[in-house]
This record gives sequence, structure tokens and C-alpha cells, in this order.
Amino acid sequence: MKRDLKSLVAQMTLEEKAGLCSGLDFWHLKGIERLGIPSIMVTDGPHGLRKQAEGADHLGLNQSVPATCFPSAVGLASTWNRELIGQVGKALGKECQAENVAVLLGPGANIKRSPLCGRNFEYFSEDPFLSSEMAASHITGVQSQGVGTSLKHFAVNNQEHRRMSTDAIVGERALREIYLASFEGAVKKAQPWTVMCAYNKVNGEYASENKRLLTDILREEWGFEGVVVSDWGAVNERVQALTAGLELEMPSSSGAGEQKIIAAIQDGTLAAEVLDQAVERLLGLIFKAVDYKQAEAAYDQEDHHRLAREAACESMVLLKNEDQLLPLAKEGTIAVIGAFAKEARYQGGGSSHILPTKLDNIYDEIVQAVAGADVLYAQGYPLEHDDIDHKLIEQAKETAGKSEAAVLFIGLPDRYESEGYDREHLSIPANQLALIEAVASVQPNLIAVLSNGAPIEMPWLPKVKSVLEGYLGGQALGGAIASLLFGDANPSGKLAETFPVKLSDNPSYLHFPGDGDVVEYGEGIFVGYRYYDTKNIEPLFPFGHGLSYTEFSYRNLSISSKQVRDTEPVEISVNVKNVGARAGKEIVQLYIKDVQSSVSRPEKELKGFEKVHLEPGEETKVTFTLDRRSFAYYDVSLKDWHVEAGEFKVLIGKSSREIVIEESLFVTSTTPVKKIRVDRNTLVGDLLADPLLSSRASQMLDKINETHPFAQMAGDGNMSDMLAAMMKYMPLRALANFSGGTFTEEMLEDMIAKLNEVSA
Ligand code: BGC
Repeated sequence: MKRDLKSLVAQMTLEEKAGLCSGLDFWHLKGIERLGIPSIMVTDGPHGLRKQAEGADHLGLNQSVPATCFPSAVGLASTWNRELIGQVGKALGKECQAENVAVLLGPGANIKRSPLCGRNFEYFSEDPFLSSEMAASHITGVQSQGVGTSLKHFAVNNQEHRRMSTDAIVGERALREIYLASFEGAVKKAQPWTVMCAYNKVNGEYASENKRLLTDILREEWGFEGVVVSDWGAVNERVQALTAGLELEMPSSSGAGEQKIIAAIQDGTLAAEVLDQAVERLLGLIFKAVDYKQAEAAYDQEDHHRLAREAACESMVLLKNEDQLLPLAKEGTIAVIGAFAKEARYQGGGSSHILPTKLDNIYDEIVQAVAGADVLYAQGYPLEHDDIDHKLIEQAKETAGKSEAAVLFIGLPDRYESEGYDREHLSIPANQLALIEAVASVQPNLIAVLSNGAPIEMPWLPKVKSVLEGYLGGQALGGAIASLLFGDANPSGKLAETFPVKLSDNPSYLHFPGDGDVVEYGEGIFVGYRYYDTKNIEPLFPFGHGLSYTEFSYRNLSISSKQVRDTEPVEISVNVKNVGARAGKEIVQLYIKDVQSSVSRPEKELKGFEKVHLEPGEETKVTFTLDRRSFAYYDVSLKDWHVEAGEFKVLIGKSSREIVIEESLFVTSTTPVKKIRVDRNTLVGDLLADPLLSSRASQMLDKINETHPFAQMAGDGNMSDMLAAMMKYMPLRALANFSGGTFTEEMLEDMIAKLNEVSA
């Protein structure tokens, strides 16, 4: 319905306008009855609905109404399945409609900078392209049901340690190419109704007061049309935040925020138009929710449980499968060991923690799946603490010894990872380590099924033949695990993050979580596989890795044109074939490598992916379209994305480390840039490398060399190569100094002036 929001704003009193800019309570916006403006509800998010009927909190402490618990973002991202995440989003939207919730607070698009971050389970990936694509699908799905989302936490919120006070000091390239890029794609593609600003500071300024982030980049550059909401309690000074572009303070600040706004308008420090514009945007959000509200909304819990199971199945990653131990046959005796098998860890702690509509018991699901086989159980370890319980270990050993294979359910207990704090190491509890050791001494056919929200170290890996990374699989994880273990489903998840061999291999290791309130992002753009692959550090499991019960082969990589301008789209296609005996899904990954560059670039970067289902023997052609951005880096001096002309490689891989087929192409830049302003201290090498200056400069240098003593000394051959190499770092003034008067100061000035006249 079309409404005249401006005239509605004009009817509001100053108090009403200021009041609308902060919440009514923990979960509601204010309404204004006399003007027919209703109060709408927002609630967490992101992988299930946390609607608290009473006892509101933002830490996941008090109970909420039952809702479907889907796998957390770490698992959703490991599906690499845009369509499936869209369906999950749609289901979440339906549940919001049924519960009268206008905006779901999620998804989270923060980058997994360190595996220690307590909230990594709520974020998608270490890679901004994958993360933003997953976020966009989630948002599109939810919003297709007439319910808003809140893309969070904008921006550079990559740790829980001192999360409300820490200052993330991040360079411009890393900010643009990694941390903002993860939000940018999602905003542009899916236009979330709201964006939630982060608690922390970014380069010295609170995200909530950061005009550059909230207005210049988010709104003006990316075209965001919605409302910016604060994270719960992220507002420092209300007036500064409003001026920077934060429309809604949440939760209610009991009148404090609005009083400050009123005072600032009255004393003239805040322009009336700034407040009016914020109010108009808030009204836009409220009435969008009103217009899309479905009167008789309901959803089928069983349907959503089935969808949660499908999502869980695709989210799990088969990391290792020696001797093809998996899938297990449904016969003989199978030992199920570990407390998680009966008390599943299926979601993370904090504000995303929800009350599921039902919960699979993994052990029961296994018993049901194998009908004919004997399933034995041993607890193995206590869940409440890390101490080794020798009696439980002995029982587990005995149970494993009597079986043909043992499935160990291990991972991180709830207390190990949560919103609000970070981990300090990547180990699983000591009592689980002792259990693996003991069971391995009696049973060679060991399978580990992991429940964790982020990478762990696996010094015990050689002792187990198979590892299934189950992540935090949501309420239907049990059915999913059972069908994967016994081959009723074929694993098709791949890692959206790197598992390092040890914590200290991680690029952020020396800079995490910072000193006091300052955390320097010293690793720059080299986050995740961008670092491991460039530095050639062997990870435990690389980004993009995941096994299947079938095999896929690749051929016919073709590129629409091997010589393109950066403004032209490039079509890439490749054939993928299922060459194994089972139906399965493959995730085809496309990386771009800049072969030669004047700025530092990662070894490779993900620029495309597609998930395809193939029957045995079936082959399909997968097509990607690359654009300018696929080849670009963020040029700090140009303050823009830039493609440097040259050779690029298209790499198709099964993971970032397993490239199976590659081709080259040459991209020319339509905006070659003069990167330098020439002066007497400009280096000869920089002149010769500059796309616009090089040809003119080399003519001039040739002319100088006709009489310059250096050129006379060098003659031909080796010496001239050496001289050329040394000359690269010689400033122009030195060329004059050493010329013995053949290249004078006047000639130098003339050369500088002429070069500076060259323009694009
Ligand atoms: C979290 C947000 C959440 C909000 C409301 C905050 O503590 O950082 O992600 O949406 O609480 O519960």
C-alpha cells in the first residue's frame, strides 16, 4: 500500500519522532496509536526463532517459544547450496509470520578471522564471496515471506573478547576486500530490511557512530535502502549515532536516547532533517511489515523438521575416509560411544540459542536406521567437566572391543564455545582425548563424528579411519548423521573454513585478540586460505575440502574469450562427471589467480561455485559468469576497485588445495591508471611499471642513456642486466647526480613536467 510517509512525519511531535528512534522494550519498536503506527516485533535469529514470551534477554538465557532449529551458519555455509539455504530462509520467514515477528535478527556475515572466535558458528566463512552469497540466499528466503532480516554485525566484529570496547584496526584493502565484501554482496543482491551495526570500534570509531560505514559506504556506495539498527546496547552517544546513520537504537534505553535527541534538536546541534529522515525510514520499515503481515500464518512443524534434516545432511563434511570405512554396512555389531550420542550438541550458545520443536536423539536414529545390526552404547566421558572418568573409559573400551566398528561422538561441549567469549585453544576436552586413545588400542575401525562450531586440532587423526564433521547440525542432526554413516545419504558438504594443523599456523595468531582494547589486523588481506595457500602452509584440512562416497572427474574447461576487457563478462564452463557407483553432489569451485601484479595479492581467491547433483555415470556442464570484480583488487590510492591488465588463471578445484584443471586468460584494463605523480624522488622502476607512463618514460630514459656514464659503463650483456635491475630503485634525481653533467637539473625538471602532463 502506498503511504505518504513524509506527511505522517510532519504530523508527529518532536517527542514522538525522537521516541521512534529507540525501542519500546527488549524486542519491540514503539508504536504511536493516535497516528495508526503499530508497534512491531524483532527477534533473534539467525538459524531459528528465539521469540521470548517473557523474561527478555540478549544472551539466550531465558526460554523462548518452540521453533525449528536449523543447522547454524557454519553448517549452512558448508552446504554451499544457495537454493537450500533459500528454503531454510523461507521456512524461518514462515515461522516469523506465524509468531507475529516482523524482523529476524540475522544472518551474520562477519568473517571467521580466527578459529578462536566464540561466535564463529554463527558466521558463514573465512571467505567473503562464499559468506556474502550464503547471506544473500538466507535474506532472500526470509524476506520472500514478507519478513525482514538484519544483516549483522556491521562491521569488523571478529571476536568476542572485549567485544563492546575493542577497536579493530584494519587496513583499507583488508577492510574492502575481506571484511566489508562479505556484507557488500549480500546488501546489493538481497537488500535486507535492516542492517545491525557492531558493538566494536572500527579504526578508532564505534561502528554505531561510524558515518563512513553506515552512510557513505552502506547507503551511498552500496545503495542500502533499509534501516540501520544498533546491536543490543551498541549505542555509545545517541546523537552521534543518529548523525552517522543509525536510525534505531535497541533495546529501549529507558528514554535516555530520545532525551538526548530532543535536547540536541532544541539546542540546534542536530538538524531537524536528520531526525525526519531517520523517522521516515523507520516508518518505511514498520509499514512494510504491516503490509506484508499474513493474517492466518501457520507452519507445519514436521515439514520444517524434514527440511532441517535435509539441511543438516548437506551441511556435514566427510573429512577423512581411509579404506572407505564409511558407509558402514547395516549388519554385525556397531559401538556408539560418547555422551553426545544421547545428549546431542546441536546449536551454539548466546542470543541464537533457541528452543527446538523436537530434538533427534542420535543413538535412537542410528538404531532405527540399521534395523538388522546390534548397536551397543557407552558414554565414554562426562559432559559436565574435562576430568577423565576411568570407569567410563574402561566400559567404552570393552564395548568397542566387542564390535566390528566404533563410532565416537566427540567435539566441543557447550561451555567451550559461545557468544560472549572466545576459546583459548583448539583442543577437545582431555577426557575425550583419553577416550580416543583407549578405544583406538582395541578397535582399528574407528569413526569420529564431530560436534563443534569451529575448527579443532586433531593430533589423534592417525588413530581414526574416518572423520565426519557434523558441526552444530540443528534439531534434526541425528537422522542426518545416521543416514550419512550408513550410506542412505551421500556426504556433500565442503569446508567453508580452513582447519589448521595447529592454532599458531593461523594468520591472525600473532594479532588475536589484541592488546587491551586494540586489535591490529596485521595479517591484512591474508585471511584463511588466502594465507595458507600463499605462504604454502599445509593445513589439516583445506578450505573447500569434503569427500563423497562417489568420485567426480573434470574436463573441458573453456573460457569464452582468452583476451577480454575488464568491462566484458567472461563465461567459463567445465564438465563434471560422476565416475563412481553412487549418486552424489559435487561442489565445483572456481578460483582466480592474478599471475603478475604490482600489488600483493593472494595465491588464489574464490570467485564462483556451483553445487550439482549427478547420478552414476552422469555428466553435466557447469557455467560461471565472471565480471570485473572477479579480477579486481581494491586500490587504496584510487579509492576504487581496479583491474590491473595482465594474465589471470582460472582454477577449478575440489578444494583450494586440490586444483584439478586450469586455463589462462588475458584481461585488459579499461581504466589504466597513472598510479604516480612524478617528482625528483620517483623511482625509475615505478615509472617503467606505470601503465600510462611507461612508454613515454622509456623513450626519455633511452635518450638520457645515449650519453649517460652508466649506460656507457654497462655496455651489453650481463652488466647491463645488472644495471637495469639496480636502476629500478634509483630515484630520478640520482640519475642526474651521477650523470657527470650529461643529464642536468633543468633537463630533470623538464622530464618531470612532461611526464606529469600525461593523462588517462
Ligand atoms: C547479539 C546480537 C543479537 C542481539 C539480540 C546481541 O548481544 O550480538 O547478535 O541479535 O544481542 O539478542
